[in-house]
Amino acid sequence: MKFSFTIAPENQNFMSNFYSADQKIGDSKTDSDEVWEVMKGTGSRWEPFIKHNYDTAHGAFLSKYKKHGFTIVSPARFDHDYADEKDAAGITFKGKSSIVLKEDGYHTNATSLIVALHELVHWVSHPAGQGHETTAIVLLGHDLNEGLAQVVVEDILEKQGIRKTEYKIYTDRVAIIRKMMERFGFELFGKALFYGHWSELRDEMSRVWSLSPVELKQLWTFAHANQSGEAIKCIDKLNKRPPRLPRPQSLTWVFR
Ligand SMILES: [Zn+2]
Repeated sequence: MKFSFTIAPENQNFMSNFYSADQKIGDSKTDSDEVWEVMKGTGSRWEPFIKHNYDTAHGAFLSKYKKHGFTIVSPARFDHDYADEKDAAGITFKGKSSIVLKEDGYHTNATSLIVALHELVHWVSHPAGQGHETTAIVLLGHDLNEGLAQVVVEDILEKQGIRKTEYKIYTDRVAIIRKMMERFGFELFGKALFYGHWSELRDEMSRVWSLSPVELKQLWTFAHANQSGEAIKCIDKLNKRPPRLPRPQSLTWVFR
């Protein structure tokens, strides 16, 4: 189904066809093409990282979904099939190369731009060719990875002049990631998420914070419980530690 919309006059000079993150996305190929256009991240600090994976990831999407767009299922079916993910509005299974979006209300046959875009960030994350879970999860865990994906979404929307959603999406996890980026910059996060080079961020956290695997797991726990206040207190303490110099040799942490 195709949803038409008009561009708000104040946004007509922006690059995107969209003016609001809450605009409806249907299941037509035209609609998914439009989200893929936003996913290029044009003008955002993530654009070069996304570009690295874009063609491979987009190609994998097109070969999976052929002439179709997104798979959108009813709330009842979504909640039944993915009972553990009741709070989610969409799920990306990179291992199985599939994206399932939850219908926004009943009989709308639609979701919203921000939901579809969030799932595409997972899809474009390393490995771009799919067939394996996001590699950055090894370091970030599932919940900080969600925060990072949403930071990418927010930054893309902002650069394209698309109004943010009223909904709170991973607010705490976003706050934790943004706090970490204040110290480590965004590039290491970009390399971790889109190139699979998460060990560079791990080594830097180890050098600058003397971070132990136990302390990292503590941050995962705060992220999982949406306790950004606790996480930020913890990060403030870590920031007071003197960095280890020089850079350490390769570390051999094992994550499970
Ligand atoms: Zn997600």
